[in-house]
Amino acid sequence: MQHLVGGISSGGRTVPDLEGRPFLVDRAQGAYVWDDQGRRYVDTALGFGATFLGHNEPVVTEAIREALDRGSMPAYAHALEEEAAASLAAHTQDLTKVVFVNSGSEAVHLACRVARAVTGRRKIVKMAAGYDGWFDDMAFGNAGSAEAKMAATERPAQGDTLLLRFNDSQDVERLFEDCDDIAAVVLEPMMANAGCILAAPGYLHHVALVARSKGALVIMDEVLMGFRLHAGLASHLLGIQPDLATVGKAIGNGVAVAALVGTQEVMAAFENRGVTRAGTYNGNPVACAAVKAAMHALDRVDYAALQQSGNDLRQHTVDAFAREGVQVCTSGYGTVFTIWRGPNPPSNYREAARMSDADFTARLHVALRRNGVMSMFSTYGRHYLSARHDDDVLQRWAGATASAAREMAAGPAQ
Ligand code: PLP
Repeated sequence: MQHLVGGISSGGRTVPDLEGRPFLVDRAQGAYVWDDQGRRYVDTALGFGATFLGHNEPVVTEAIREALDRGSMPAYAHALEEEAAASLAAHTQDLTKVVFVNSGSEAVHLACRVARAVTGRRKIVKMAAGYDGWFDDMAFGNAGSAEAKMAATERPAQGDTLLLRFNDSQDVERLFEDCDDIAAVVLEPMMANAGCILAAPGYLHHVALVARSKGALVIMDEVLMGFRLHAGLASHLLGIQPDLATVGKAIGNGVAVAALVGTQEVMAAFENRGVTRAGTYNGNPVACAAVKAAMHALDRVDYAALQQSGNDLRQHTVDAFAREGVQVCTSGYGTVFTIWRGPNPPSNYREAARMSDADFTARLHVALRRNGVMSMFSTYGRHYLSARHDDDVLQRWAGATASAAREMAAGPAQ
């Protein structure tokens, strides 16, 4: 690649070259991707979780086509924008007010701006090793760098961002005792980007309770988990009532769109506190058409069956490696999970950092790929299922896992 920096525009897309040539995807459909050599793979990266309905989902693609035919960028209000907002808000309980943006990072950025305007405070708290987008403040303390920062005696901070230890109930109390300028705590339903670490029972409630009692807002970052466990916010399924939530990925099934949703009271800040929202492409017709169609399709997904399929696959993975004398376990949910070496998954980032095994992850990626399954190439990477991962697809994936386990046990796969 002579012009494109590093051959990719987003670091997360890196996969190793095999056979001395870069992997280039040619097309994607349903549960599959094809490379530029015409080889088909079961896809488990699914646009980093965005194409939850499956690639090129006909209902969404048709809606996008229609919107394109009517002009993609009018610069005036259009009916689809309110229609998309209404269909999204129909799934988010009391978070009925919506602003569309183009990416999850923007949605988190906007959420923090609203929280600051509402509370008159500056500081934003995020989880150490949590991923809330790639903008400067929120990229601080992402997985890979968080552990060293949290080992320091001073609470790690960059600008107005403070880090919190996930699944440590006392840490949030210490934090609020030490600082009275906190506008919001940004929470994720699970620490997906640090390897699908689940919240301990009651932990998210506790953080939300402490934050509220100290006058801070609760922002749920649902860019990844929103619409993945059911047709709505994971927070609501877990019994958390955030003031603001960010959604992205699944809401457009792979089209560049995300949204900030919030309660009427909090989102009034756009009007009565002059909070800025702008963006050439925000709420463009193509994005809105995708959201409206995706909401309709998501209502028809059999989430319980899909979660069960994913859980069966996770068990199959554990069993396949066990047959080869290799102990692995998984963390997460049925439709999004991480595979770890060892008997039990991590319950916090300290354990995740200790358990992470870049060599194992790399060898697994290569072995699966040679057996017709594409996966993320990242130490804390995740495997996703889409609604198009039917029994046939899952059997192929399970078969590839069994072969990969055999090959890895037999010797280096690279
Ligand atoms: N928040 C979470 C939880 C995410 O997983 C991501 C992306 O993976 C983001 C925010 C950032 O979203 P985007 O990549 O659309 O900017």
